[in-house]
Formats: sequence, C-alpha cells, structure tokens
Amino acid sequence: MHTGSCHCGQIKFEVEGTFEEVNECNCSHCSRKGYLLWFVPRGRLSLKTPESAMSTYRFNKHVIDHHFCPNCGCAPFGFGKAPDGAEMAAVNIRCIEGIELSGVKRIPVDGRSF
Ligand SMILES: [Zn+2]
Repeated sequence: MHTGSCHCGQIKFEVEGTFEEVNECNCSHCSRKGYLLWFVPRGRLSLKTPESAMSTYRFNKHVIDHHFCPNCGCAPFGFGKAPDGAEMAAVNIRCIEGIELSGVKRIPVDGRSF
C-alpha cells in the first residue's frame, strides 16, 4: 500500500500494489506536467479526501479525467478506461511518498506521435 498526495494535502489517496516501471510519455500534456505514470485498476486507488477537492482537466477526446489540485497545482492521478472498458487509474508516482525516483525504471512512450 502506497500513500500519496498533492503538495498542500488537499488531495490524499492510497494505492495498492507494487510497480517496477512507469510510463514516461512525450506528448504535449504529459511532458509539461512531468508525469511518471503507473497504471492500476481504478479499484486499487482510494481517495482519502472529497472528490470536490479536485479540479479536472480534459482535452482531446475527453476520455481521461486528469485530476489536479486547484490550490497547489499538483496532478497526482487521472481516471479513464482501458481499451477493454475496465476503469483504470493512472497514478503519477511523483506524488507518492517515499519513492526514490532514480531507482524506478522509466518506459518511454511516444504519445506525441499518436
Ligand atoms: Zn494541493
């Protein structure tokens, strides 16, 4: 079980599981936010703060809800659907506590070309 939050703590969450690698995407959105994304089934992420504490950014086809904190600006996760329809969470591991980022394997994703 990992705990995470935005910088100011208005968004707090727990996510269950282990990861060895994360996706680092070069698209215009991910590169600006610096996302290092870990994909998990939505049910493995539990919010510890009210949904109303989050703002949501949508673009392109509007299929992913990119949540962020309206107070401090951090973007800890997004919610969307996998190609098979399963509800997924894309967790930005930069917002998880106690991770040594230099020890995490990054998989480059060429989202810019999609
Ligand atoms: Zn915040």
